[in-house]
Amino acid sequence: MKTFYIETFGCQMNAHDSEKVIGTLIGEGYSRVETPEEAELLLYNTCSIRDKAEQKVFHRLQQFKRHNQGKKIAVLGCVAQQEGEKIFDKAPHVNMVCGSASYNKLGEMLVQLETGNRRVTGLSVDTKDPFDTPLTRRDSPYRAWITIIEGCDKACAYCVVPFTRGPERSRTSESVLREAREIAAAGFTEIQLLGQNVNSYRDPSEAGWDFAKLLDAVGRVPGIRRVRFTTSHPRDFVKEIVDAIDINENLCNHVHLPVQSGSSKILAGMQRLYTRDEYMRRIDWMKATRRHIAISTDIIVGFPGETLEDLEATLDLLEQVEYDSIFSFKYSQRPNTSALKLEDHIPEEEKTRRLAIVQEKQREIQMRRNQAYVGTTEECLVEGFNKATGQWIGRTSQNKLLNFISAGSADLLGSYVDVRVTRAGPNSLAGEQASV
Ligand code: SAM
Ligand code: SF4
Repeated sequence: MKTFYIETFGCQMNAHDSEKVIGTLIGEGYSRVETPEEAELLLYNTCSIRDKAEQKVFHRLQQFKRHNQGKKIAVLGCVAQQEGEKIFDKAPHVNMVCGSASYNKLGEMLVQLETGNRRVTGLSVDTKDPFDTPLTRRDSPYRAWITIIEGCDKACAYCVVPFTRGPERSRTSESVLREAREIAAAGFTEIQLLGQNVNSYRDPSEAGWDFAKLLDAVGRVPGIRRVRFTTSHPRDFVKEIVDAIDINENLCNHVHLPVQSGSSKILAGMQRLYTRDEYMRRIDWMKATRRHIAISTDIIVGFPGETLEDLEATLDLLEQVEYDSIFSFKYSQRPNTSALKLEDHIPEEEKTRRLAIVQEKQREIQMRRNQAYVGTTEECLVEGFNKATGQWIGRTSQNKLLNFISAGSADLLGSYVDVRVTRAGPNSLAGEQASV
């Protein structure tokens, strides 16, 4: 039996790519092992979105070298695409370098490896086909991811994704719905639709569906109780998406809408293609619905040219929107991106200071928002049990973590349970099962 070990970094797209890579390897007769020592083939699915991602990858590859007696090593994902064949120069013990746009050829590439080819590459981003495989090894027994669109056609000034994941390519609505039905038949009840920009989804088949139509249809697949989606680009986030959430109860009460900055000047520098006012219009649509939609976002501080006034505008936006959660990052220079050419780069310590200010502000907002749930009853999908605290771990439709106790003795894993919220912290809620 051929064995493999895989390590994955980065976003949900990467995590789901790895599930499909694992499925493909198992289909090719490999079996998965839990440590590098046991494996014949080591795969490393990498992320290059921020920081010194490349250095971290080479450091880890150096550690892999220790296990390298006769083993094959493959680097996958964004660092593979970004660094390409240079990886072989810096880490000569690597045998395969493959970006995500070439995963369709993984089967052939494995054959090349097995037949003794020392250096195998898959680095073309010139593809029209998404990585559509029937063989996916899903990590969670309750929630399944479906990639609906790959790549990105935007050109945000700070972002490496268009270079590492190639141009946009959407799957047909028919293939997405087929996968959704299979997922439901396999017992999953929650689906998360994935893409760098799900809103620019365009069905390549004659049906020609847009994202709102696909979202609604996935929410109507029998057996599916929850549908989430990420990530939305504000420019392409149209009112029809909010209308679909408003009428279809199976679409979760949560939208992740990355704003990046509250200053229209910085948004223009970032080439985000919307102003603060245009972004706020989308927030207003969501706040006007009957559903209580939780909103989360991504923030970058310290983009070149960001003044204290611009930072103030971001803090003011956080307060105005009252986000339920945010991911916040210090701007980090990425290869090939147009922001490299900008002037007024902000010193690292100043970025760190600004990040702390943003995070402190958001902590207060989250504390306040979560307090408002105390006394309400929320439906949770139960995802785990914490033996140490005796609490079940649930997630609400609004994507809030809700830890709760149950007076009953039933195994609640995978079920939907009504929970009365009794306490709230900035990052989670706590409560007790409403009726047993
Ligand atoms: N496609 C999504 C969008 O447009 O919002 C997000 C893609 S990216 C994987 C996730 C987040 O990483 C971005 O929203 C942004 O906040 C952050 N990010 C991307 N490039 C960055 C950089 N060079 N420095 C700091 N943060 C960055
Ligand atoms: Fe990167 Fe912008 Fe594309 Fe998102 S939309 S992946 S931030 S280029």
